[in-house]
Amino acid sequence: MSTPYARLRFAPSPTGPLHIGNARTAVFNHLWAKSMGGLLVLRLEDTDTERSKPEYEKEILEGLTWLGVEWQEGPDIGGPRGPYRQSERTAIYQHIIDKLMEKGAIYRCFCKPERLEDLRRRQNESGLPPAYDNRCRSISPEESQARADAGESFTLRFRLPAKVIDFRDIIRGEMAFDHTSLGGDFIVRRSDGSFTYNFACVVDDVKMGITHVLRGEDHLTNTARQICIYEALKAEPPIFAHASLIMGGDHQKLSKRHGATTIAEMRRDGYLPEALFNFLTLLGWSPADGIEERSRTEMEKVFDGRRLNAAPAVFNQDKLDWLNARRIRDLSDERYLELARRYVTEKSVGNAALLLFKEELSCLSELPGRISMISSPPPPSEEELAEIKNWPESRTVLKDFLRRLRAMSDFTPETMGAMIDEFKASGIASGKKLFWPLRLAVSGSVKGPQIKDLLYLIGRDNLEKRVVEFLQKI
Ligand code: GLU
Repeated sequence: MSTPYARLRFAPSPTGPLHIGNARTAVFNHLWAKSMGGLLVLRLEDTDTERSKPEYEKEILEGLTWLGVEWQEGPDIGGPRGPYRQSERTAIYQHIIDKLMEKGAIYRCFCKPERLEDLRRRQNESGLPPAYDNRCRSISPEESQARADAGESFTLRFRLPAKVIDFRDIIRGEMAFDHTSLGGDFIVRRSDGSFTYNFACVVDDVKMGITHVLRGEDHLTNTARQICIYEALKAEPPIFAHASLIMGGDHQKLSKRHGATTIAEMRRDGYLPEALFNFLTLLGWSPADGIEERSRTEMEKVFDGRRLNAAPAVFNQDKLDWLNARRIRDLSDERYLELARRYVTEKSVGNAALLLFKEELSCLSELPGRISMISSPPPPSEEELAEIKNWPESRTVLKDFLRRLRAMSDFTPETMGAMIDEFKASGIASGKKLFWPLRLAVSGSVKGPQIKDLLYLIGRDNLEKRVVEFLQKI
């Protein structure tokens, strides 16, 4: 049955947290569905009962919602083609299994785990890839039935046709897999009665009327296997798109070594969902006009599935930080303060101090470190200290600042501002020779926010104390 509109799906397995790679797949599916005026189905592939956990399911749904991915049918909201959790679809799968069994497309395999292990070991020793040798294919239907009736344990395997299996991938073009490269007849139902991914996935994609399947390229060989199931079911396969892998900056597969890789971690680190959504969109896709910075709704308008890219996507941390910094700057002060307070809980830190750093944060978790330059600055780095010591002006500049500070009668933002203007105009030094010694002395860093505001927030006594101490060091 053909559907009048595009129906896409995102089908995570709740066997772990939501990772960058899967989140990117979800974002692409969201955008592609929207750009075609279609809808997105969220399906939980929880047939692996050992590894699937309700807490992961919760984390995945929360992560997707936070990110801004929207689905129109799913386990939480229902829909006309549910249920949307595979563990609740057993009767549907069993019905299809019976039909395939009748047709001879699947058969019982009585091989014991020890035999399969032995087979794998021997293949490994001969340098061959692991593959089932299809031994139980030749068991007659009568014998197969008799052994099952006698209570012998069995799995069900799909009979792979002896041919080259081909399909078109809209990102990669024509794909072809010889049946011999697919590891032999594969299991569709385990001996404990649970169904495997390749089987359940196809049944669901057919029953849920899925028109486009976009997933990671690690599923390419699965797609070849799945194509065979479509054929056996006489169902039309969807359009396939396999997004490229995500690599770290070192061009190795993205992993823990590269830092935060789950959405929950990125959220904790203070990345904003708007920035992360934008960033994920660019991992394997690019807009025709080259404009990379866009809101979610703008992306929905310009996204074009045909521009998905086959080259590996490289996770560019600098780009993410840049996008995030821009989005932090765009926040209203009210929203910024609300988020900032999750990172800085000390009541003694006022809103003015938090706002001082709004323009220069790459992510919100930097805030406690940055704020410390007001309350208890870190010691200056050796290099910065050495550089400042080298300049003959440094001591004069600091002594002049101290003199002006001591001479101030009032200490307000305005008087502090005026004092700095005069200090600048005095000609004692200019540019970094004027401000670096001062910044290093009072905040432990030569870089920082607006000097006037910073100085005012540090406070008169602290300024004096820090400059005096610093003069003893240089
Ligand atoms: N549950 C599979 C996964 O998380 C889904 C793959 C697919 O989209 O078909 O990798």
